[in-house]
Amino acid sequence: MPAEHLSPLPILFVDVDGVISLFGFPSHDDPPGSYHYVDGIIHCLSATAGERLRRLAERFELVWATGWEERANEYLPRLLDLEAPQLPTLTFDGRAVFGTAHWKVEAIDEYAGDRPAAWLDDNLDERCERWARERPAPTLLVPTDPAIGLDKEHVERLLRFADEVAGAAPGRA
Ligand SMILES: [Mg+2]
Repeated sequence: MPAEHLSPLPILFVDVDGVISLFGFPSHDDPPGSYHYVDGIIHCLSATAGERLRRLAERFELVWATGWEERANEYLPRLLDLEAPQLPTLTFDGRAVFGTAHWKVEAIDEYAGDRPAAWLDDNLDERCERWARERPAPTLLVPTDPAIGLDKEHVERLLRFADEVAGAAPGRA
């Protein structure tokens, strides 16, 4: 972990369920992605998330922040055609609860340290918002709709954030 902390890029914490793996979309429409089995469970992986994450990877250090933990690296870089074969991955010591995100805050905070950080997740709640408000470093929460996942506007907002952080005077970032 310390080596990654030398990265000059801001961090982007990436949730998987509700950001990359989609659910809750209308069943009578064409699915918004392709279906893949991951450890025996079927997931609809967004057709556009891979290309969008590749774009974001040019400006952020991407870090998996998902209950998938190590399984994210086993499947997703290949299925999403990401350039990095592995991303840094947060682990949560069995605290993962589907449908919520507050259990991620501690591990995210520890990894982020004093670096600028953004967080993409479909379950951001009051505890996550409080964490973001109280951080001294620039912080951006990007909530997603689990039926749509990572969309164009999210990417644009994140790239603006990366520009702002890059333009901030050293020591003020
Ligand atoms: Mg999620």
